[in-house]
Amino acid sequence: MVSIKDVHKAFGTLEVLKGVSMDIMKGEVICIIGPSGSGKSTLIRCINALNDIQAGSITIEGQEVHDTKLDKLELRKKVGMVFQQYNLFPHKTALENVMMAPIKVLKQPRDEVEVRARALIKKVRLEGKEDSYPGELSGGQQQRVAIARSLAMDPDVMLFDEVTAALDPETVKEVLLTIKELAADGMTCILVTHEMGFAREVADHIYFTDRGVIVEHGPPETFFESASDPRTKEFLGQIL
Ligand code: ADP
Ligand code: MG
Repeated sequence: MVSIKDVHKAFGTLEVLKGVSMDIMKGEVICIIGPSGSGKSTLIRCINALNDIQAGSITIEGQEVHDTKLDKLELRKKVGMVFQQYNLFPHKTALENVMMAPIKVLKQPRDEVEVRARALIKKVRLEGKEDSYPGELSGGQQQRVAIARSLAMDPDVMLFDEVTAALDPETVKEVLLTIKELAADGMTCILVTHEMGFAREVADHIYFTDRGVIVEHGPPETFFESASDPRTKEFLGQIL
């Protein structure tokens, strides 16, 4: 589904990704963990071409993401992204937030979009909150609206960048549950997260990054039980 090969990314003279490779199969859940500043967000942003790359390749379903001839709209349809800041439109209801992109960007008929948007709101367990404004919802609820908004574009792969990092502990769980249900439905997910319990339970594969390289990776069992690199060990020691 997603193939990342020897990707190099620099901001000016600052080399942030120094040859990163990953392969993600359809339906897999990949967790990327690592210290702050190690290039996790940059990698996620390279995957959906919000950042360019200097060398290497990233393909989604065989299409090179950084091909200048690639239709960006096609890419946006394929790849959903959810950030730490949910950035909902404050003057639109939950339902309107979810309906907006399919109507404005994909030009789909309003009534069809509404049926799907209501189903998505139900899917993220927010039935009854359709007409609430973001300011009337908890952080966790807003983040689930943001997830529903991404799903409204019917993506093939979802990127999550520390989506629970800014939430109150009590609302983290409900967002993780939503992601877990998505994964169980077979959605291909690439997540940057510090939620180790979640990663251990849900991930098919875990990557540990430090200073722009993948230091260690493996399925959760091996990763958590027998991390061998000292940087991974130190990080896990601090966080577990
Ligand atoms: P992480 O998500 O792992 O915390 P980031 O990918 O956000 O790390 O950042 C990696 C490095 O790249 C940091 O040193 C950060 O300051 C730098 N960086 C990120 N985005 C930019 C940018 N747009 N311009 C310049 N430097 C950036
Ligand atoms: Mg980040």
